[in-house]
Amino acid sequence: MLQLRSLTKRYGALTALDGVSLDLARGEFFGLLGPNGAGKSTTMSLIAGLRAPDGGTVTLDGQTLAAASSVARLALGLVPQHVALYPDLTAVENLRIFGELYGLRGADLRARISEALEAVQLADRAKEPVRNFSGGMQRRLNLVAALLHRPKLLLCDEPTVGVDPQSRNAIFEYLERLNREGLTIIYSTHYMEEATRLCSRIGIIDHGKLHALGTLDELLTRLPFDEEIRFAATPDTASFAMQLGAHGDLATADGAHRFRPGAGFKLSTFYTLAESHALPPRLFTQQRPTLEAVFLHLTGRSLRDA
Ligand code: ADP
Repeated sequence: MLQLRSLTKRYGALTALDGVSLDLARGEFFGLLGPNGAGKSTTMSLIAGLRAPDGGTVTLDGQTLAAASSVARLALGLVPQHVALYPDLTAVENLRIFGELYGLRGADLRARISEALEAVQLADRAKEPVRNFSGGMQRRLNLVAALLHRPKLLLCDEPTVGVDPQSRNAIFEYLERLNREGLTIIYSTHYMEEATRLCSRIGIIDHGKLHALGTLDELLTRLPFDEEIRFAATPDTASFAMQLGAHGDLATADGAHRFRPGAGFKLSTFYTLAESHALPPRLFTQQRPTLEAVFLHLTGRSLRDA
């Protein structure tokens, strides 16, 4: 459905997007995972035709998208990173403006607006100015504003930043439902939990480059280890932790150590070593690694620190 080929964008001396290529099939829920400044918004704005690339092409259903091609744009909906609503207008008035921009009128537009407000649980606030809405409610309205014209492809640029857990869940459930009904979605985020929960395929982006692409399971196989082990960072475990550094990757955060064994290091050796430090097995939790570990492995950076 969508093809990106060697997409490049520069802002002055900065290369924000550096030769990104990607193929997206109809019905996918694709995640673009990367830290702030990775190039996610730039990618979205090039697909949406809001900016022109310095190199490369965007093709939608076999048609090359140029910045000004309005026909192709009708097939797209963009949920921008920053809420783009008129605060003094009511929810209905806001949606009317967005609908009219896409050529919707009359009874059809009215029906779609009611449907949209129902879908994100804002029907009872329809006639209130948006300025009275919480951040999460504004986000939900921002989302449906991009859907009134029933696009085939929805671009969601970090739609849950600054959103309360309840609104976040409402957004997730709504997007999952739309995807089940056939909408193709590209969803950018710097939260690995969101990419893990929502996305059937994930692209890992950093410094304008797509470092890896695949399902969660495919990405996890890029790691040289299958398990990671967590244990509390206490004075008792300090010397053991220090010794582990030679056998793999040890990270420490929030009072816990996280050890990822290096290639060839056996977990049985881990437990023998622990025993020699008088540390019983019950101190350790073994778990499947997360996308965070994949990101660290591929980019040398942590999603959180970046
Ligand atoms: P993300 O969405 O992943 O946070 P962006 O695509 O917004 O990343 O930004 C990628 C890089 O391009 C960053 O270094 C950012 O500072 C820079 N950048 C983004 N927009 C502009 C702009 N309009 N002018 C100059 N630099 C920009």
